[in-house]
Amino acid sequence: DLAPVKRALLSVSDKTGLVQLGRALAARGVDLVSTGGTAAALRDAGLAVRDVSDLTGFPEMMDGRVKTLHPMVHGGLLALRDDAGHLGAMQDHGIAPIDLLVVNLYPFEATVARGADYAEAVENIDIGGPAMIRAAAKNHGFVSVVTDPEDYAALLAELDAQDGQTTLAFRQRLAQTAYARTGAYDAAVSTWMAGAIGVETPRRRVFAGTLAQPLRYGENPHQRAAFYTDGSDRPGVATATQHQGKELSYNNINDTDAAFELVSEFLPTDGPACAIIKHANPCGVARGDTLTQAYARAFDCDRTSAFGGIIALNMKLDLATAEAISGIFTEVVIAPGADDAAIAHFARKKNLRLLTTKGLGNPMAPGLAFRQVSGGMLVQDRDNGMILETALQVVTKRAPDADELADLMFAWKVAKHVKSNAIVYVKDLATVGIGAGQMSRVDSTRIAARKSVDMAEVMGLPGALTQGSVVASDAFFPFADGLLAAAEAGARAIIQPGGSVRDAEVIAAADAAGLAMVFTGQRHFRH
Ligand code: 5GP
Repeated sequence: DLAPVKRALLSVSDKTGLVQLGRALAARGVDLVSTGGTAAALRDAGLAVRDVSDLTGFPEMMDGRVKTLHPMVHGGLLALRDDAGHLGAMQDHGIAPIDLLVVNLYPFEATVARGADYAEAVENIDIGGPAMIRAAAKNHGFVSVVTDPEDYAALLAELDAQDGQTTLAFRQRLAQTAYARTGAYDAAVSTWMAGAIGVETPRRRVFAGTLAQPLRYGENPHQRAAFYTDGSDRPGVATATQHQGKELSYNNINDTDAAFELVSEFLPTDGPACAIIKHANPCGVARGDTLTQAYARAFDCDRTSAFGGIIALNMKLDLATAEAISGIFTEVVIAPGADDAAIAHFARKKNLRLLTTKGLGNPMAPGLAFRQVSGGMLVQDRDNGMILETALQVVTKRAPDADELADLMFAWKVAKHVKSNAIVYVKDLATVGIGAGQMSRVDSTRIAARKSVDMAEVMGLPGALTQGSVVASDAFFPFADGLLAAAEAGARAIIQPGGSVRDAEVIAAADAAGLAMVFTGQRHFRH
């Protein structure tokens, strides 16, 4: 099963680690063959390298479109070393075997990510690279193929362990990675093209991911799981830096994503904000004059559920807030940065994971959301809807005052991140009652109100926290009963999409109760 490595072809766009690799291979007696830029980089470092054009007898041509597409290259990669016919063909045509292929592709993904125009994107579709990778991977019985600088060290370790050879198991692993790479590459091209030419529902679609972290288990211990990232550099749980604590679990990642996406609705220029999440639903969200106050106010919405929660902040974590958070057990804290003092403070808490991101997410960013169902996948735009205050339609006799309006907008943003049926009570830019995931809207309304009575009792306050609040509903009230339940809990103003056949009935009930109500014209179901 061992295959010797005597000749290597290197052709890389990302030259990271190239010279070290070239040197290490040369030191192990491996002959180097290379394309233009790669050969130049190796020669600059004083290494002996043969040009591919010398091998093929053809110059690189057509702006690099045709460099390695030649039988001298592909024959050397594809020939079976134990087949008399193949060996004869090699001899007849003077083809020498290539035992190791090191290729990384034109940076197509990065090129489109920085907003390159159509022509430049097309020019960055690598042709010869994927052709060689697929050829070498097919012939993994004899050939090793490396497609990622991160694997250089493993390759050299293998050569050392196997006396200049590689094992079949090693080559198989490399080949599997290689096909995932070419698959992902074409997926990126296809996804880009769908957008560039405006095809909304392409007949075929591919999703490709890179393993970020194997997980101990999934949602439950009997489910296997892993975390794959899609290569985007968007701030979020996938690109965050973990400073300390145990590895994130499947549920942690899911909840941390929900927390960070929610807090990203609140611009730091408008002041600090904090969201506390349990099971992907918020149990408290608040603004405050300081980050510490925002946390304390979010905590007060539901002190019981906040235990073991996930906290997201819209600003750099400071020491005072870190100390406040340490009051109870918290699974994860995620923030766009953290002061050294805050990091040092958390360092003592082994069970708390601290993640920092480079900035906040963009709630309005375009993108796709996937959901798997038996036999297929549902694809939709991510819910990047956002309603401006000026677009609200006042439907009641009484219009909300300025404070109510600010609370309504806040409640609406939170409701977008609560599982349907979502009901969110807000007072002074802090949630005071959240009803999530109920099958009936009136139940969500009542559950949130009842919890706020419990919480008032815990805090030694009379009545319910929802007294004098405003309320958001993620979808229209189909009947007046939900609205009346909210009014009973003390809500004074309501924000909802409108659009029910019984809107008139619901508006009349609001007027009769002296409520102010605004319609958004946009729904935020989250199932
Ligand atoms: P270099 O910097 O060595 O000039 O070019 C390296 C890049 O060229 C690699 O990313 C490799 O995948 C790509 N490449 C190698 N052969 C071909 C080819 O025949 N056509 C195209 N379009 N790209 C190639």
